[in-house]
Amino acid sequence: MSARTVVSSLLAAITTIGLVLGLYLGVTAAVEVHADGEVMAVRTTATDVDDLLARLEVKLGVGDEVDPGVDTTVVDGLVVTVQRAVTAAVVVDDRAGVLGIDDAEFEVTAVLDTMRDVLVASPAGGAMETEARFEPALDAPVDDGAVLQVEIAVPVTVRVDGEELTLASFAPHVEGAVDEADVALAALDRVDPSPSTPLEDVDVITIARVELLEKVVDVVLEHDWVEEGTDELLQGERQVETEGRDGLRRDTYEVVVVDGAEESRERIVEEVVDEAVAEVVLVGTRQPPPPPPAPSPGQDGDRVVYLTYDDGPHPTYTPALLDLLATYDARATFFALGSEVERYPGVAARIVREGHAIGNHTWSHPSLTTVSGEVLDRQVLDTQSVIQRAAGVTPTCLRPPYGARNATVNARVAELGLRMSMWNVDPEDWRQPGAGAIVDRVLSGVRPGAVILLHDGGQGRGQTVAATERLLANLTEEGYQLRSLPGC
Ligand SMILES: [Zn+2]
Repeated sequence: MSARTVVSSLLAAITTIGLVLGLYLGVTAAVEVHADGEVMAVRTTATDVDDLLARLEVKLGVGDEVDPGVDTTVVDGLVVTVQRAVTAAVVVDDRAGVLGIDDAEFEVTAVLDTMRDVLVASPAGGAMETEARFEPALDAPVDDGAVLQVEIAVPVTVRVDGEELTLASFAPHVEGAVDEADVALAALDRVDPSPSTPLEDVDVITIARVELLEKVVDVVLEHDWVEEGTDELLQGERQVETEGRDGLRRDTYEVVVVDGAEESRERIVEEVVDEAVAEVVLVGTRQPPPPPPAPSPGQDGDRVVYLTYDDGPHPTYTPALLDLLATYDARATFFALGSEVERYPGVAARIVREGHAIGNHTWSHPSLTTVSGEVLDRQVLDTQSVIQRAAGVTPTCLRPPYGARNATVNARVAELGLRMSMWNVDPEDWRQPGAGAIVDRVLSGVRPGAVILLHDGGQGRGQTVAATERLLANLTEEGYQLRSLPGC
C-alpha cells in the first residue's frame, strides 16, 4: 500500500469517527441527576425521567418525590432531583379500639410537614387533635425510622360533691382519672366503679362521700309496775306503795353518713345511766265485802247501778259528763279533790245543783296509809270546807286515794264523820285502754248494786266521757237505773 493510500484511508476513518461522534452527540442529552447525596452528570439516550432513573439504577420508594415528574421527556440540560421520603411508624396506645381505630399500630409514610395531617385524617383524628399526646412532640424533627407514640385521652364524667365534672383522661384506670380530676379522696369515700377498673370501660365515675360518726342518744327507760298481793286490802282493791321513776339509758351509735344522709346505724355502746324504778302496786287478796244491801223491793227496783267519778272536778270533762247524765236523767257520785274544787268551784256547784252526790277524795290525793295523822286530818277537813263553800253541802262519804286504807285510817276517817266508800267494778279507765274496752269491762262486771269506778279528773279523760255515753245507753236499755250512792 502506498503512503498516499494510507493517508487517504486514515482520513476516511477519521471522517467516519467524526460522523459517528457527530451523530451520537446529536441524539444524546446531557443531564444531571441529584439523588441520595450524589450528583450524576451523564449523557443519555433515555426518553423520559422514569427511563433515566432506571438506567442509573436509582430506585424510587413509596412517597419519594421526583422533580420533574417521571413522565417528563429527557432533554438536554435537564436536572432531575429525587427527594427521598422519611419513613416513620405511628403507634397509637391500646385504647385505639375505643375510638374506632382497628389497628392500634399502623405505619405511615410521611414527611415532617405532613405528619400532623396524616394523624388528623386518621379515624381517631378528631379525638387526637384535641385530646392526644404525642411523643416526641409533633413539631420535633422526625428521623427516618422514627416511632411516634400517640396517647388518646378517654372522655369521662366524675360526679362528686353534688357536681359533675367532665374531663379527658390519659389515666389507664379509674383511680388515675379521679386524681386528674383533682378530687381528694378520704379513706372511707366510695368510688363507683372501683378504682382499679380500666378507664375505657367507664363513662361515669361516682364518688360518694362517706363519714363515720358517733352519735349518743339518751333513751328514757319507763318505769314498770310490779303487782304484789297483800292481805291488807280487799280483793280487787289496789294501793300504790312506791312512786315509780323513769330511768335513763345512754346509747352510742356508729352512724354511716353517705353524702350527708344517714345510711345505717349500729349500736356500739349501751350504758344504763339510771335504772328505772318499778312502781309497786299492792293488790288486795282478802275476800270482798258483801255487795251493798239490795234496795228494798218496790222502792228502787232491783236493777240499780252506781257510777262514780274520782279526781275532779275538771273544767271540761265534768261538764261533759253532767250533760250526758242529764240526757238520761241519771245520777252519779263525784269524789272530788279539795284542790280541784278550789280551782273550779262552779263545776262543783253544778254537780250538786243537778242532783248528783259529791264526796271527799282528800285535798291532794296522797295515800292515807302513808301520811301522819295531822296530814290526814288536813287532807280530809280542808276538802270538806272547800266543798261546803263551793257547793253548799258537806260530804258524808270519803273515797281514799288508791283505795289505800287500814284500821288506823278507817278509824280516823270515821271520827271525822265520814263513811268509807269503795267500789266493786274497776275498768281502769285512767290507763286509757280505749272507750270500747272501758265499756266492755264495765258491762262484763256489772250486776245489780254495782259501784263503778271511773275518773273525771286528771288528763285524757275523753275515753271516759265517750264510754259513759255508751254505758248510759246500754245500762238504761238493760233496765238499770243509775243513781248516786245512797248515804253520800
Ligand atoms: Zn283518785
